[in-house]
Amino acid sequence: MPELPEVETIVRQLRRQIIDRTIASIRVFWPRTIEGNKTEFRRRLCGLTVAGVWRRGKYIGVEGEDGTFFTVHLRMTGKLVGALDTADRRHLRLRFTFTDGTKLHFVDARKFGRLRLWPCRGESCPGLGPEPLCPETVRRVLKHLRTNRPVKSVLLDQAILAGIGNIYADEALFLAGIHPLTQAAVLNAGQQELLSRSVPRILKLAIGRRGTTLRNYRTLADQSGGNQEHLNVYGRTGAPCFTCGTPIERIRINGRSSHFCPKCQRSGVGRQ
Ligand SMILES: [Zn+2]
Repeated sequence: MPELPEVETIVRQLRRQIIDRTIASIRVFWPRTIEGNKTEFRRRLCGLTVAGVWRRGKYIGVEGEDGTFFTVHLRMTGKLVGALDTADRRHLRLRFTFTDGTKLHFVDARKFGRLRLWPCRGESCPGLGPEPLCPETVRRVLKHLRTNRPVKSVLLDQAILAGIGNIYADEALFLAGIHPLTQAAVLNAGQQELLSRSVPRILKLAIGRRGTTLRNYRTLADQSGGNQEHLNVYGRTGAPCFTCGTPIERIRINGRSSHFCPKCQRSGVGRQ
């Protein structure tokens, strides 16, 4: 599933490709791709000139010159591509055609991805926590947590911090040397500080590499990301830790797999 770095990569590419372009028509191949009123969606978007493209958590937001705002949530397998190849053709769910003849395709094999119109940008995506790209924000959030949930579950909670998914939660915890089962509320000051730095660092490094491609994620130009070559623990079950050589372990926490080094990430309670 695309997380913050993958969505940010797509947003940056979309800015170059669709800003100042005007939507001429929308063709919908799978109606449930649009959340809410489909007629209204079409009416507001046809003729719209794109003024800005934004990211909020894992959402892509597109704003028109008149303030019309809609989001694209890629979920499991959704992707936006300029050119459509043969394999994607059967999974095409929606197509924008711009007045200059260029096209933008929403392709989604599993059909969980959604497009949604909002009253305005300020009212979009309610309930999301702050962006985790600066240490001060993450530090403030961690400091005020009063939960006995495992820190891994807390990092995945979009209402606490927006945009982090399974890959980057595991990688950030490894970098901070924190066991994923550690209760969030018992992280000591030193651990809070390490995690406050490691979360933004992991995300920014991945943005610089255009995200992580393990299965489905593709950039707008239909290319893979580059961060998969730099993972320390995610997807490396049984392989030796790059730091200490201990085999990486995988456990399930609230139904999600968590990868960690049992030696570099000590203790499940957080008081070492
Ligand atoms: Zn290790």
